Amino acid sequence: MRIAVLKERAPGESRVALTPETAKKFVALGATVAVEEGAGSGASVTDEAYREAGAEVAGAAAVVKDADIVLGVQAPDPALLAGANPGAWVAATFDPFRNGDLVAAYAKAGLEALSMEFMPRITRAQSMDVLSSQSNLAGYKAVLVAANTYGRAFPMMMTAAGTVQAAKVFVMGVGVAGLQAIATAKRLGAQVSATDVRSATKEQILSLGAKPVFVENVAGIEGEGSGGYATEMSEEYQKAQAELVSSHIAKQDIVITTALIPGKPAPRLISDAQIASMKPGSVIFDLAVAQGGNVEGSKPDEVVEKHGVTIVGYSNTAGHLAADASALFARNLYNFLSAFWDKEAGKPVLDEEIGDAVRLTQGGKVVNERLQAT
Ligand code: NAD
Repeated sequence: MRIAVLKERAPGESRVALTPETAKKFVALGATVAVEEGAGSGASVTDEAYREAGAEVAGAAAVVKDADIVLGVQAPDPALLAGANPGAWVAATFDPFRNGDLVAAYAKAGLEALSMEFMPRITRAQSMDVLSSQSNLAGYKAVLVAANTYGRAFPMMMTAAGTVQAAKVFVMGVGVAGLQAIATAKRLGAQVSATDVRSATKEQILSLGAKPVFVENVAGIEGEGSGGYATEMSEEYQKAQAELVSSHIAKQDIVITTALIPGKPAPRLISDAQIASMKPGSVIFDLAVAQGGNVEGSKPDEVVEKHGVTIVGYSNTAGHLAADASALFARNLYNFLSAFWDKEAGKPVLDEEIGDAVRLTQGGKVVNERLQAT
């Protein structure tokens, strides 16, 4: 089994899909591991460290030649994989709903694309879930960036020169990123409130010592729903949510938005009029900016000033913590492949529940049910 890892080529992508730790573990399973020169540089991993872990380090073509499995953070251009074995697996993120052309190109190239975003939300796959591992770090980073952008302090401070008021932080969307954002803002000493459409999050918000702010007059999503994901809300709910947010947001200093709906553009949670109601100097971090944005006017990787409010959002927030993000991403991939490693066959053999969920292409065709439905 030859496992190949290329340097990421997407603009701004600093992460890497393999660390020396996981290279060593794959070698221990009996695999040969090959890494492109400089692949770890954005995540502070040297070629030497990969070599010490037992990996070959070489140019892209040599690394990919005869590969059975290619690991990536963002799926590489299939043209780079021409030397891989027929039917080679590529385990990476594909953003499949938005990258139809890429998925089709993988099918055409006879590669088996395994989309890590489609990992099912089941207990045994938790350690394989890249969305969770990356969202957690993104939620943390969003709060730090907002704090750094904000011209005031987060904690209340009583000083000889007078009292500094605690910052009011509002987190919209309390999934993995939102929970970490709440925890991080609390640790920095802010007064934190949070909202979501899923009623199950109310208790989680309270358990972190934050205040839940919820639409009460229109039903939201009860329980965890399908895999814990949200769906698009009714017009009536959206209207009630907009009213609730309008009255709350005007009193906030920092807003962190994290709301996503799989396969759909991010829901719009903050309008221009609502931004205008905020105090000058307030900061909004839009974690959903790359998926269309929760905030009107937010732009990926740009600092937007509107009505005296600063709006920030990164296209790749986890990539701003490249070393930790890579370490967790690489472990997710290792946990995935090693869980299915068949010792006799000397290679991983996927089961139906997880294999069918993540597999996008096979035998020259797009085979994933979720893509065929769209
Ligand atoms: P996500 O990134 O898809 O969405 C972020 C949050 O935005 C979610 O909480 C969602 O409910 C919320 N949201 C969507 N539309 C909204 C709106 N209009 N207004 C306000 N909020 C809105 O979600 P996620 O972080 O991936 O996780 C969602 C859930 O899945 C969490 O409860 C998490 O604990 C669970 N989860 C389970 C597993 C597992 O069992 N393997 C793994 C990861 C996450």
